Amino acid sequence: MRLAVLSDIHANLAALDAVVDDMPPVDEVWALGDLVGYGPQPNEVIRRLVELGARAVMGNHDGAAVGVVDASWFNPDAATAIRWTASVLDDDSRTYLSGLPQVRRDGDLTAVHGSPREPIWEYITDQRIASENLGSFETRTCLFGHTHMPIIYRADGDRMEVVPADTAAPIALDARRALINPGSVGQPRDGNPDASYVVLDTDAGTAEYRRVTYDVPATQRLMRERDLPRWLVDRLSQGR
Ligand code: ZN
Repeated sequence: MRLAVLSDIHANLAALDAVVDDMPPVDEVWALGDLVGYGPQPNEVIRRLVELGARAVMGNHDGAAVGVVDASWFNPDAATAIRWTASVLDDDSRTYLSGLPQVRRDGDLTAVHGSPREPIWEYITDQRIASENLGSFETRTCLFGHTHMPIIYRADGDRMEVVPADTAAPIALDARRALINPGSVGQPRDGNPDASYVVLDTDAGTAEYRRVTYDVPATQRLMRERDLPRWLVDRLSQGR
């Protein structure tokens, strides 16, 4: 089976549509949370994900936008964007976001936003945190997002090794357990402003990282029209 794995779309429809155009034929689309927040088109992004039949989990921004996650941990810019998002969500979007599970499990895959032991809030930013999470999921592979950084952590004996998210060729997965972050579609933070996602082929055992150029100024224009915070606008062109 072939899956497109998307995370942290953050209401950036131009980025999502560019990724959809770039996608090879896939059996399923998975979305690892933070569908909304920061960006200018939350309802449009949710509608597109529904059209795609995406299997999604809840991120901290999704939960905060519908009042089921405490937003007091957000920095001021994120909080401003969440208040704006909450004010424009339509009933269908609100129902959709409220119904998202925090964890999805299907066959050999687990999907979460943050981490398997703390799906909404924990950031997996290093090998130690990755290894501490190995006991919190049962499948061979766990898909996660939240950090906006494309990376794979793979268990090698009792330590975790980092597999860089190289886009040159599909990365071979093997029997070892792995935590896979596809990076962010709508607000990449690894210094490359292009949308990031993964095509996971569970039969071939490969993860293919793909980067897609999209119309960043178009998203920034919409953000300015909506008076979203300046830093959130600027960072899209920097990929930080
Ligand atoms: Zn995010």
